[in-house]
This record gives sequence, structure tokens and C-alpha cells, in this order.
Amino acid sequence: MSARAGGGTLFPVGAFIVGALLTACSTGPDADPADDRLLIDGGTVVVMDEAGTVFDGGAVLVEGDRITSLLDGAAPRPADVPVLDATGHLVIPGLINTHGHAAMSHLRGLADDMPLMTWLNDHIFPAEAELVDPDFVYWGTVLSSIEMLKSGTTTFADMYYFRDDQARAAIDAGIRAVLGPHIIGFPAPDHPSPEASLRDAGDFLERYRDHPTLVPGVAAHSLYTTSLADVARASALAADHGVTFQIHAAEDASEFAIASDQTGMGVIEALESIGALRPGTVLAHAIYLSEEDIARIAAGGAGISHNPESNLKLGIRRAAPVVEALAAGIPVGIGTDGPASNNNLDLFDEMDTVAKLHKFTNGDPTALPAETVFRMATNGGARVLNLHDDIGSLEAGKRADIVLLDTRRAGLTPLYDVYSHLVYAARGSDVSTVLVNGRIVVRDGQVLTVDETEAMARARAFADRVRAVLERIAAEREREP
Ligand SMILES: [Zn+2]
Repeated sequence: MSARAGGGTLFPVGAFIVGALLTACSTGPDADPADDRLLIDGGTVVVMDEAGTVFDGGAVLVEGDRITSLLDGAAPRPADVPVLDATGHLVIPGLINTHGHAAMSHLRGLADDMPLMTWLNDHIFPAEAELVDPDFVYWGTVLSSIEMLKSGTTTFADMYYFRDDQARAAIDAGIRAVLGPHIIGFPAPDHPSPEASLRDAGDFLERYRDHPTLVPGVAAHSLYTTSLADVARASALAADHGVTFQIHAAEDASEFAIASDQTGMGVIEALESIGALRPGTVLAHAIYLSEEDIARIAAGGAGISHNPESNLKLGIRRAAPVVEALAAGIPVGIGTDGPASNNNLDLFDEMDTVAKLHKFTNGDPTALPAETVFRMATNGGARVLNLHDDIGSLEAGKRADIVLLDTRRAGLTPLYDVYSHLVYAARGSDVSTVLVNGRIVVRDGQVLTVDETEAMARARAFADRVRAVLERIAAEREREP
């Protein structure tokens, strides 16, 4: 699938997986195991269309990788279609995590409670330089994919190294991912320079152009690590291939001075000058925006990934101007940032923080109502990634990325308003079943695609290596005069 619009490839494994689960959820003993249809029936269906439709006791019909129809409680059901019973569940579009660094789950909790530049330059970058290799990235991305899927995230946008191993991990986990070539203005674990990273980047973008779940995209780390000329090259590559372009922008107060020293412009102005503020560009954080910056972003069509928990943890003393950005028509989605910055990948947790942060900073309890925040985590995120023709709502024709959330517990009973529960009361651990591209990848809270026990064992082994390397670096620093 390209970032522009969906290619129509049917994911062949989807039919098999749905068929294989028929014994657990079928309506009868004569079900055809090759049947790629599934009726998710009996739940409260939260469509997230423009009208905000919610069906009590509704049903979603999935055929292959697509949603083909929605049925309200009274509508007749098609005969002989295998049924997944959603009684007592909210049936919602899969959540979309618009910014992160999944492989950093191996560094979660390594260094906290310090400023961004200290965290990066004294801890994360040195550890990454020694330790990050294809295996580290593959298993870290698998670990994060498990965490995301089990908490209802079906799509994530990622920025990291060793793109082929990131891609392999996401595909193996069965999660939809937006990732690919990444540049940063110093020697990275996978490439010694931006030029080296970009040299065969087009091959990656072409290889995955029509993949059913891996959406290729380009990323540049930021204007505080990477020259404007290199960022421009990465942005142009993304534009040429019609794919997403991700960049950290206006995250920290110190960033403006670095950008203006190097370019004579502010961060957003510099990105505008290279034509990077187009639809499909993801501005991660976008906190320090002037009124002019908001107008520039709105005019260009770029989207914002809002990552409040990462920002709060770093002590950044203002909130991204989300209310103003939404009022200007800018697509705004929600992101967790990396697992070492947050430190979890649960978008239910993040939605709760988004809603409360903006009520607090605006001194206004009506700021960002729950439905607006849930829209940001679904349709809004899809718009930020330029994938809204394919994902972000449960409408006929879209990819079947669907989450069932079990409301049959004390903390979610009774239920008056679905958006209130989804944003203020639910947790990722309430998710029971997850479909991505028509394939059931989580059932009864268990991930079906990859071995969670093995991923955790690998993570513990990587942590032993991380500790050893950091002890050695600390000893070397002590010996320095
Ligand atoms: Zn980030």
C-alpha cells in the first residue's frame, strides 16, 4: 500500500487465519475453512465517520482485507458467515500511533529524569552507537509491536535504523507500519552519513509500494541533528515517491536557536522553504509554534503528531498548540514517541493525557472533548499519515483494522458515552481482539503472530549487553583527564 491511497492486494494469510479461527467463533460445524468473511456481531460499533455514528448491537462484515458493510442492530444478517461474537465489547477502528522509535523498547528505563539533550547525547546516542544492530532492531520492534497490538494500536509510524529489519519485524508481528529510510547528520548505526542512507533508499520505497501492511516512508531526524540540505534531500525523495515524510520539529526550546544559527530561519519556516510542509509530512511534537508557523503548516497541508507524555516527561514547559492547530484545519494525530521517552506505548493512556493536558493548560474543561481526542487517535492519525482513504474509521471499503474492547468489568460499567469511556476510563489491557488487514492478530488478549515469550527473553539478553557497554563507557569517562 502506498501512502497516497490503497493498493488492492489481498493479504493471502488473512484468509487462512480467519479460517483457522472458525472453530473458536464459527456459527456452525459446516463452516468453510477457506471462507475469508467474518461478521463481528453484537457489540457497540463506534464507526468514527464524519457523522460520529455509533450502532448498539451492530455488526461489521469483513471480507478478506476490507470492511464491506456495517449493519445496525435490527438489520438482517447475511447467512452462513462465520461470526465473531462482540457482545459486551466496543468495536472501534484500530488506533494509530503517529510517532515513535519502536526498537528503543530495549532501552526503556535506561535513563530518565533528565533534559532532552543530556538524555540523547550522554546516554541514548552512545548506547545506540555501540549496540544497535539488525538483531537489536528486529527484536526491539517485535517487542514494541506486541505491546502496541495488545493495547489496540493497529498502525504505527516509526523512525529508526536498519529499515529492512524494522520492516521484517512489523510484517512478522502483523501490524501496519509506516517506516523506511531515515537520515541523521552524524554516523548512525546503519549508515555512516545521510548520503549513504539515501543512496539506495528508493529501492526500499519501491519494494514495499504495494505491500498490504508495510507502508514505506522517509524520515529525517531533525534540524538540530541534520543539515537543512540533507533534510531537503530526504523530503524530496519522499515527495518523488509519494510517501510520508517524518521529522522531529519544534520539540525543545533550544531547537529554534540551532535552526536559526544554521539556516537564518525558524524550524517551520526552514521546512517551508524546502517544500516539506505538504500533506503526508508528519511534524513530530510541533510544540514551539508561532501564529505564523500554524498558518504555514495549515497552508502547506502537513500534519502534527502530538506526543504529550514524552513532552511532559522532559519537563517541556508548554503544550503543543493543539486546539489552535485543529481550529486552523491542520490534521493532528497522537503519538507515544519511543518507549524510552514515555515509557509505554498504550494509546489509551496517551488519549487520557491529551484530553486532560489541554483542559489544564487552557484553563477550560471544554477544550478537546473526548470525541475529538478519540478522533485524533483514529481518523486524525490516518489523515496525518495520508492514509485516510484506507484506515482510521470502520467504513465500508476501508482496510479491516478493527479492535474489540471488553467493557465487562467494574471500571467500565455502566456505559453512558462511548467516547468518555474510551478516553477517560479504558486501558490498553481492556483490548481483547485485534484485526489488522482482515487478519486476527490478537485474540483474548494473546498475540497470535509472534512468540511473546521469546521476544521478552531476547530483550533481557539485550539489556545485559546494554549494561555492560554503559559500565565500560562510564569507566572510560572516569579515566579521562
Ligand atoms: Zn521521537
